[in-house]
Amino acid sequence: MKFLRIWIILALSLTLNAEFKQGSIIVDARAEALVKSILDRLCKAGGRLSTPKIYFIVDPNINAFATEEGKIYIHTGLIIKLKNVNQLVAVLAHELGHITGGHIHRFRSESGGITAASIIGTLLGGAAALAGGGGDALLAGIMLGQGAAQGSYASYTRGHEKEADAAAFRMLQAAGLSTGGGIEIFELFQKTTFGDPPYLKTHPSDQERINAFKNFREQSPDTGTMPDEWIKEFENIQAIFVANLNKLSDAERFYYGKDSPAATLAKTIILARKSQYKEAFAKLDVLAKESPNNPYLQELYGQFLLESGNASKAVEHLQKAVAMAPNALSIRLLYAQALFTSNSDCHKALDELNRITRDDPDNAMAWLLKVGAYKKLNKNDAADLAHAEAARLMGDKKLAIQRVQRAAKSSDPKVKEDAKQLLAELNGADD
Ligand SMILES: [Zn+2]
Repeated sequence: MKFLRIWIILALSLTLNAEFKQGSIIVDARAEALVKSILDRLCKAGGRLSTPKIYFIVDPNINAFATEEGKIYIHTGLIIKLKNVNQLVAVLAHELGHITGGHIHRFRSESGGITAASIIGTLLGGAAALAGGGGDALLAGIMLGQGAAQGSYASYTRGHEKEADAAAFRMLQAAGLSTGGGIEIFELFQKTTFGDPPYLKTHPSDQERINAFKNFREQSPDTGTMPDEWIKEFENIQAIFVANLNKLSDAERFYYGKDSPAATLAKTIILARKSQYKEAFAKLDVLAKESPNNPYLQELYGQFLLESGNASKAVEHLQKAVAMAPNALSIRLLYAQALFTSNSDCHKALDELNRITRDDPDNAMAWLLKVGAYKKLNKNDAADLAHAEAARLMGDKKLAIQRVQRAAKSSDPKVKEDAKQLLAELNGADD
């Protein structure tokens, strides 16, 4: 069961009481889908062409920030502590306002803040152990990720904050969405006293922002609404985050006496965290009966089955989940993992992983899982090449070169050719 515990760094719902280290990046297909649909609608209304990539960082503080490359980072504390989807939509519109405004952010940490390499490093950690390859790379990855993510927050000028608020208001209105969440979120920040919320420190006074936002709303009354499915889905992803990330006793208290579908979902995950799988499956059956076409419930079956040692049955459910949500890469990865673990079909696992790296060549997790799959098939040169790709994405150039040099001696002409090409890229790249 060792590597399943590490897998949780990658897949939020696969927890089993393990601790999520602050600064870790977590992946959850359901949460990503909701945030993506909100961003898609805002981006379309704001005239932006592409929707930013989203990352969730384990951190109890209410915060979200955008980076120059147009990525949005969301603290898990934001999802857990917000009251409703209106507030989340307002925060996302604000972050999009920073991106469309071309605001240059400064990171407080001397290391230069969160880089793609450090983020991927955190992801890599789990997959490396999972794949049974590259233990050295894995530790470096985890530490790099955590070190870089902690204490490095975007800070903007007051002017930029006001601009982002104004842009958010315009975007919300153009998208036909309610603007009320903007006021609510500032009021929430005013009341918030926990921890050391960087959001509070770097933003202009909240009262000032509330007044400005109220002004917008007076000049241009709120006619927008929120889609029902967003309202419900926010409750579900909040349930997933609370049930997985909060202390078990806190998670139980959060949903004590509540009887909504989201509360049932949370209780299902909490039961699995306590290894009470029989009860967890009973609740999951109730949810799945109501929503037979929900891919995330099939994903949960797959995860619980994998955790409780039934990989071949997990494969069945994950196959369904993949068919229902073919674009959810983290579900595809879990499916590949189940194929790999069930020992039934390593070739099929590899096919799946190859599809993932073809669709998303920067998916370091998939490259690392490939290391394990190739090793199982005794294709060590291909394993070296996959390991080199993973190390490159993680920013470990030395390891990447070491592995790719080995792969370049392969007797397999395809591996040899690809290795030479990667080696040339690595040698040509700046540090
Ligand atoms: Zn801001």
